[in-house]
Amino acid sequence: MKKVSYKELGLVNTKKMFAKAVKGGYAIPAFNFNTMEQMQAIVQAAVETKSPVIMQVSKGARKYANPTILRYMAQGAVEYAKELGCKNPQIVLHLDHGDSFETCKSCIDMGFSSVMIDGSSLPFKENIKLTKKVVAYAHKYDVTVEAELGVLAGVEDEVSAAESHYTKPEEVIEFATKTGCDSLAISIGTSHGAYKFKPEQCTRDPKTGLLIPPPLAFDVLKAIEKKLPGFPIVLHGSSSVPQEYVKIINENGGKLPDAVGIPESQLRKAAKSAVCKINIDSDSRLAMTAAVRQYFAKNPGHFDPRQYLGPAREEMKKLYEHKIVKVLGSNNKL
Ligand SMILES: [Zn+2]
Repeated sequence: MKKVSYKELGLVNTKKMFAKAVKGGYAIPAFNFNTMEQMQAIVQAAVETKSPVIMQVSKGARKYANPTILRYMAQGAVEYAKELGCKNPQIVLHLDHGDSFETCKSCIDMGFSSVMIDGSSLPFKENIKLTKKVVAYAHKYDVTVEAELGVLAGVEDEVSAAESHYTKPEEVIEFATKTGCDSLAISIGTSHGAYKFKPEQCTRDPKTGLLIPPPLAFDVLKAIEKKLPGFPIVLHGSSSVPQEYVKIINENGGKLPDAVGIPESQLRKAAKSAVCKINIDSDSRLAMTAAVRQYFAKNPGHFDPRQYLGPAREEMKKLYEHKIVKVLGSNNKL
């Protein structure tokens, strides 16, 4: 396949936007996508709120969409943003949880402006070695690299771990210096998926019966910030699992008992720190599923995908705008 630089597609890397976000005390949204409707909703929300945005795909999503189609979707996203009136769109195409040098290289060669190499399951020295190799290749093409230290619990596509291990603040300087990575994903208690915590890890709100998750480890975050002042920090697994969506899904034939996420108040607090990229995937899946289930419950005779994917796209856009304005604070930053 012919190589293409992200610059030809009109995309940008994360360098400038992260520096601005750390200084400005807000975080850039990193929304995962798999379908055209998700992509449209992300672009519409970013344009309307005047926010920079990271569109990210996992290895599984890349396989689902097809790498060639993705390259044109990314280019399409930039052109679409311009058509919607945004003169200077700041859109990143990012690989989420790259599992090998080869996957990262293939993405860099196919128009990605940013990649993550996730060596967090490897021993410390091996993680450094792998990350360093990816950084050396990526930086030749001005592509930025996110690395990870510490382990998040939960399940997300092919990434899964039974329990979390917080990032060790005493390791971050050596890791960042030796690898040359541009940003660092850390583990401070966020988690992948829509079941972030087991009910026994939570307390229950006596009034509503809803689960309240344990708080994030802000002391660990602070210690990391002290070691690496101004260095861009990333939070994965940061969906809030809105209970109104869970309710709609469960009332319309779904079955998501005790789904629980990270409260938005905690994420707001994190966004004001050196955390400058917050990953949100499950919430968009829930918004889409809730809208589709509700649509079918009301219109059992309909079968035109535009009829049910249209409202799903509208709901996702609402969710993305809410995250940008009310949680991350990245609006009006273009
Ligand atoms: Zn993740």
